[in-house]
Amino acid sequence: MSEQNKQFNLQLLGLTLTGIIGYPIEHTLSPQLHNAAFQALNLNWLYLPFSVKPEAVKEAVFGFKALNFAGFNVTLPHKQAVAELVDALSPEAELAGAVNTVKINEGKLVGYNTDIGGFLASLKEIGLQPAGKTALLIGAGGAGLAVAVALAQAQIKKVVILNRTVKKAENLRRKLSNLAIEALCLADFKEAVDLREEIELVVNATSVGMAANPGLPVPVELITEKQLVYDLIYTPVETELIKLAKSKGCRTLNGLSMLVHQGALAFQIWTEKPAPIETMKKAVGLNASN
Ligand code: NAP
Repeated sequence: MSEQNKQFNLQLLGLTLTGIIGYPIEHTLSPQLHNAAFQALNLNWLYLPFSVKPEAVKEAVFGFKALNFAGFNVTLPHKQAVAELVDALSPEAELAGAVNTVKINEGKLVGYNTDIGGFLASLKEIGLQPAGKTALLIGAGGAGLAVAVALAQAQIKKVVILNRTVKKAENLRRKLSNLAIEALCLADFKEAVDLREEIELVVNATSVGMAANPGLPVPVELITEKQLVYDLIYTPVETELIKLAKSKGCRTLNGLSMLVHQGALAFQIWTEKPAPIETMKKAVGLNASN
């Protein structure tokens, strides 16, 4: 082998690797977010996306360990499965039963949930205080679990939950009740429409509205102008739900701010350095207009 090839390999071996698993994964902006942050801090780190089917999650997680990754992110639909595979959970990940960030330290996998802090930071950024309010939470997958824990931490008054699979919504309701938060599980949207005057915050934590799963996650009549409508989806930036809410005069928030803040927390966990938030916002096109 030539000295040049050897130097090239040594350079690559010197990279610290991170990444993300999900299925689908094409929509993710996390590689742009993290690689821009690594570059800004002059770190020889790389972040890669991996398309991993549900049946291969276990092999992928242990593959990261075997390949000496520093850590990785987890997106839909794997957040609950990964919570079962790690060696230890942070208190928040344990509360949610879902993991979106894993740090690998001397072969030990520790699961975190930075969606919780990311969601709360995004609300803080727009000056929204959940305390004393009633929220409608649609979706009870990995993101729904994180939002429920975040709303409980922010002392929401009441959470009304709706999910296609009612058993998962019931699990969320129990979780909130254990955290001393009033929670109500609805069987259908008709009941939610009856409560619309009481609902001040609507959170879409389903994947309905993503490019791969288009549509409106709620009936049109549920949305009223007094609500803040928060769609966790960020691709597309303007979902059908956000368009509808804007047309009714609501305040709206898409998933970009949460994406940046959950990513900043993951960055800090892996690198033990403060995250360059402004660089990260710029990398995903987050600005005052969106
Ligand atoms: P997940 O664990 O796979 O859960 C998907 C959720 O969507 C479940 O509640 C599922 O209902 C529901 N759903 C899917 N297709 C549906 C349909 N056709 N009709 C009704 N409900 C449907 O995914 P996740 O991790 O929770 O992610 C959910 C969304 O949040 C995704 O769009 C993701 O990109 C977004 N997210 C954004 C951020 C951010 O930083 N902005 C962070 C986390 C997640 P069932 O339980 O019945 O299957």
